Amino acid sequence: MKLSQRVQQLTPSKTIEITSMANELKKQGHDVIVLGAGEPDFNTPEHILDAAAEAMNQGLTKYTPAGGVVELKDAIRAKFQRDNRLDYKREEIVVTVGAKHALYNLFQVILDPGDEVIIPSPYWVSYIEQVKLAGGTPVIIEGKEETGFKVTPEQLKAAVTENTVAFLINSPSNPTGAMYTRQELQALGDICVEHDLTVISDEIYEHLIYGDEKHVSIASLSPELKARTVVINGVSKTYSMTGWRIGYAAGDARIIKAMSGLSSHSTSNPTSVAQYAALEALTGTQEPVERMLSAFKERRDYVVDRLQRIPGIRCDVPQGAFYVFANVEEAVQSGGYEDADAWGKALLEQEKVALVPGAAFGSSAHVRLSYATSMDQLQQAMDRIEKFVTRS
Ligand code: PMP
Ligand code: GLU
Repeated sequence: MKLSQRVQQLTPSKTIEITSMANELKKQGHDVIVLGAGEPDFNTPEHILDAAAEAMNQGLTKYTPAGGVVELKDAIRAKFQRDNRLDYKREEIVVTVGAKHALYNLFQVILDPGDEVIIPSPYWVSYIEQVKLAGGTPVIIEGKEETGFKVTPEQLKAAVTENTVAFLINSPSNPTGAMYTRQELQALGDICVEHDLTVISDEIYEHLIYGDEKHVSIASLSPELKARTVVINGVSKTYSMTGWRIGYAAGDARIIKAMSGLSSHSTSNPTSVAQYAALEALTGTQEPVERMLSAFKERRDYVVDRLQRIPGIRCDVPQGAFYVFANVEEAVQSGGYEDADAWGKALLEQEKVALVPGAAFGSSAHVRLSYATSMDQLQQAMDRIEKFVTRS
């Protein structure tokens, strides 16, 4: 049977693939520690589970509007007002099957063949494939380690061509945890306004920030920027709801309507019960978020401290999200491995620690470790990595 050209070019998600593989090994009885996919280890908070059960019992188990139920859209609008001082109308909000689906639909509705999207590296794996699936061309600008993995306005300006349609920004970033300041966002935003670019702002980690620096949405910087930005967000990370699959987008009503129209022919609607769970997540107590955040901070500090003491591994303290993007170039060299990918494979085989090679995010000198797992697992993982590096 024939496979489409589109799918023949596709590289499946490395984060998902490695995590599934490592979890399978674990199920078979192997003592594997998985620092793969960015997925909080906590269960979804109790009050959210209760809201979902309540929705089921009330019979809210039917199709909903393709772009989500109005109660949830209104809760998302209130969230934007509360957290970002952004006012959106109902028709400027669409609910999707995870933020990943929001991004997918967005690229499908704004890109034609040949259109370019500028994406800073290191980048989250799915951006590149999603742009390609929409017929677009990803154009990478490198956020260098020396500049905290952030791109500069000069780099953005130099990458703009007559085919550029959009610029994507993800702050705090997966995989580096880097955060852009208001001034940095303003400077990048000015270039987007000057060149009439759509801004795609992936803010899924906005509540996972460990220092005093506050998250700023680029859309909130000026009316011009708001008008050209589509904000992507969701409940997966903040509320430990990865499996429920609820994300959302906010922006220009025409784009949002098109995204919703696309959903009406693919997913029909995000799962009804999950939408009511997300409604409770956004409107109910935010206390569990604080609790999870302080656990993540403790883990981040521990992991960074341990990694920084291991010879051949280098990393800075990430400001947000729940990943460390560690430079393992020296460890790779001293161990005689070809690259970080081979190094990671050997680590999995010999010490049973699974992490994601940096190549999936655009850097072959790094590996990504997710610290969204228990302290006990992290301690063991660090012991094993130390053993692995010092032995080779
Ligand atoms: N954006 C980034 C940067 C992510 O790391 C993730 C994690 N999966 C997503 C979007 C999508 O999240 P979800 O589909 O679970 O809402
Ligand atoms: N975003 C998470 C990660 O990067 C979850 C897996 C995925 O959706 O890619 O690991």
